[in-house]
Amino acid sequence: METVDVIVVGGGPAGSSCAARLVRAGASVLVLDRAEFPRTKLCAGWVTPEAVAELDLDVESYPHRFNTFNGIVVHLKWLKFTLPSVQHSIRRFEFDDYLLRRSGARVLVHNVRNIDRVEDSFIVDGTFRARHLVGAGGTRCPVYRTFFREANPRARELQAATYEHEFAHQWRDERCHLWFFEKGLPGYAWYVPKADGYLNCGIGAMAEKLKTRGEDIKRHWNHFMGVLARRGLVRDAELAPKGYSYYLRGGVEVVRVDNAFIAGDSAGLATRDLCEGIGPAVTSGHRAAASIVEGTEYRLDDLAAYSSDIGLVQRMLERAFAGSRLRLPENRGAREAVGL
Ligand SMILES: Cc1cc2nc3c(=O)[nH]c(=O)nc-3n(C[C@H](O)[C@H](O)[C@H](O)COP(=O)(O)OP(=O)(O)OC[C@H]3O[C@@H](n4cnc5c(N)ncnc54)[C@H](O)[C@@H]3O)c2cc1C
Repeated sequence: METVDVIVVGGGPAGSSCAARLVRAGASVLVLDRAEFPRTKLCAGWVTPEAVAELDLDVESYPHRFNTFNGIVVHLKWLKFTLPSVQHSIRRFEFDDYLLRRSGARVLVHNVRNIDRVEDSFIVDGTFRARHLVGAGGTRCPVYRTFFREANPRARELQAATYEHEFAHQWRDERCHLWFFEKGLPGYAWYVPKADGYLNCGIGAMAEKLKTRGEDIKRHWNHFMGVLARRGLVRDAELAPKGYSYYLRGGVEVVRVDNAFIAGDSAGLATRDLCEGIGPAVTSGHRAAASIVEGTEYRLDDLAAYSSDIGLVQRMLERAFAGSRLRLPENRGAREAVGL
């Protein structure tokens, strides 16, 4: 049986960030991921400057390419405006592989199925043993399933459904566009150009709301494709969109049980307004590592539950309402004003 200090299940941003810090501190770390990297991860690939800073990434020397936007074109009902804001896009296929390699951890392709607690160790599939276990396996993380599901159940109303496709495309518009509540969508749709002629188009919506209304996300996708075609943004492309769901920020009281930790989507950390999960995944991965190495308390309840906490949605709404006779209600937050 292979024995290490820490087993990290999942090599996405949460797992690789955690592994990198552990390796740096001298721990022996094994990352198990069921996929061989580079692997496809459905994601619009929007990365905030805050996440880039926390990853200590130099945009210029990143071996692949970042696409940097100085503004986001927002479509909100009948309004269209550009929100000045520096944001980046990456391709997760490249980004996650780079981060995992950079971590310096040993990585094995292994689909984790069974985890046993034996005395003070965790034994994974009867093959790997460690005193510490980090669950960074995303929505269906086996560490969450085994040790946290009962203590920290996920709220159905916080499940986000997505449908998207990333493809090689000579974009006609280099700007990032977001459409909010298009055709009653309880969420938003995106057009995110990537470097080197790639494009990601998709929609994300609250699954429970879609279900209650008896709506199919594919119907919204078809409508969105029509919007993109009419605007001349995507035409004649053969698209094969896929769906994936994950949980937005809910209760995070129980994120550690003995020496087992959960981080990233496994803990359901993506922001409630813009469904941003990369930054919270990185922060939680770093914190889990700090807790293992330095013995600090592992807490996630102070992580921002809204991207608006970094001002993005707030500024968007101020911009949307500027010059209009409509005003943000004074005693209600920006997000409540648009029903988020
Ligand atoms: C369509 C879509 C668009 C999104 N767009 C954005 C965006 O633009 N910006 C943003 O910040 N966030 C976005 N998100 C959210 C973001 O992708 C996630 O929050 C983020 O990837 C979470 O990182 P993670 O490391 O926790 O999990 P993941 O990146 O999902 O990594 C989990 C890893 O665990 C592995 N794994 C799973 N099960 C097992 C198992 N049993 N054994 C071994 N390995 C396993 C998987 O193969 C995977 O590599 C989007 C999500 C979706 C679905």
